[in-house]
Amino acid sequence: MKQCIGVLGNDQGHWVGDGFPVRTLFFYQEHGQQMSPFLMLDFAGPAEFSPSEKSRGVGSHPHRGFETVTIVYEGEVAHADSAGNGGTIGPGDVQWMTAGAGILHEEFHSRQFTQEGGVLNMVQLWVNLPAKHKMTQPNYQAILNDGIPRIVLHKIMPNQERQTIGAVRIIAGSYEGIKGPANTFTPMNVLDLSLQKGETWTMPAPEGWNTSIVVLKGKLTAGELEAGNVAQDAQMLVFSKSGQEATITALEDTSALILSGEPIDEPIVGYGPFVMNTKEEIAKAISDFNSGNFGKIH
Ligand code: MN
Repeated sequence: MKQCIGVLGNDQGHWVGDGFPVRTLFFYQEHGQQMSPFLMLDFAGPAEFSPSEKSRGVGSHPHRGFETVTIVYEGEVAHADSAGNGGTIGPGDVQWMTAGAGILHEEFHSRQFTQEGGVLNMVQLWVNLPAKHKMTQPNYQAILNDGIPRIVLHKIMPNQERQTIGAVRIIAGSYEGIKGPANTFTPMNVLDLSLQKGETWTMPAPEGWNTSIVVLKGKLTAGELEAGNVAQDAQMLVFSKSGQEATITALEDTSALILSGEPIDEPIVGYGPFVMNTKEEIAKAISDFNSGNFGKIH
C-alpha cells in the first residue's frame, strides 16, 4: 500500500498571458525528483470570461526538452505551432505536444469561446523527456474526448448488486488492461477520476512509481481522516514510491487527475520554457532560440 506523504497546493494564482489564470500546484525546482516524470502542473480556472472581440491567451513562445499536455474540462483553447500543427481543444479533449528539440507555439481561447464567453477550466501538465529523447522531433497528438476510454467504477453491494461509484478516463497508460490513446516516452498513467461522495476506491499504482492525485473539484482523503491527508480543490495528495496501490475516499463528489509514472532518474536543469539535463544544454537552447532555429508559426 502506498502511503500519503504530503499535500501540495497553491492559493496564489498568477496569469499566463491574459487568458489563463493559473495556480501552479507543483514545480520541478522544488519537487522534481518527487514528481518525476511530471515537471509542473498549472490548474487554470475555473474562471468566468465575459464575451470579447479580442482573443485572450499567450502569444508565440518556445519550448524544448519536454512535453506539454493540455487537458480541457470546460471552455475551448486554440493552438498553433511552428511544426505546422494547430487545432481547437474543447471539453474532454487533450493535446499532448512533444516539444522535443524545439517548438514555438501560441495558446489562445478559441474564436467562439472568446466571442461567447463562459467558464474556462483546464490543466496544463509538463511531462519530462529522458535525456536520450530530449532532442526528438516535435510532435503533436490531438486526442479527442471520443477517443478516450471511460471505465465506470463499481462496488458490490451486500445483495451482490453492482453500484456505480464513479468513473475513470484513461488518457495515458492503462487501467484494468484498457489502454489510453496517448503515446508516451516513459511509462505512466494519466487518468481522470470522478468519485462520488462517501465512496472509497483503491487505485493501482506500480511499485517505485511516483503517484499523486490532483483534486480539481471536491475533496479527497487518503487512508485515515486526519490532518495532512485531505486535499480539496487545487490541492494534491502525494503518495510514497513504495507500495502498489493507494486507497482514497471522496468526502464530496470529486473530480481529480491521477498522475503516476516511473521516475526519470536524471538531473533536471530548467530555465523558463526549456527543461534539459545540464546548464550547457540550457545555454544552447537559449542561443538556438535567439538564432531563430525554432522556426516560426505560419
Ligand atoms: Mn506553452
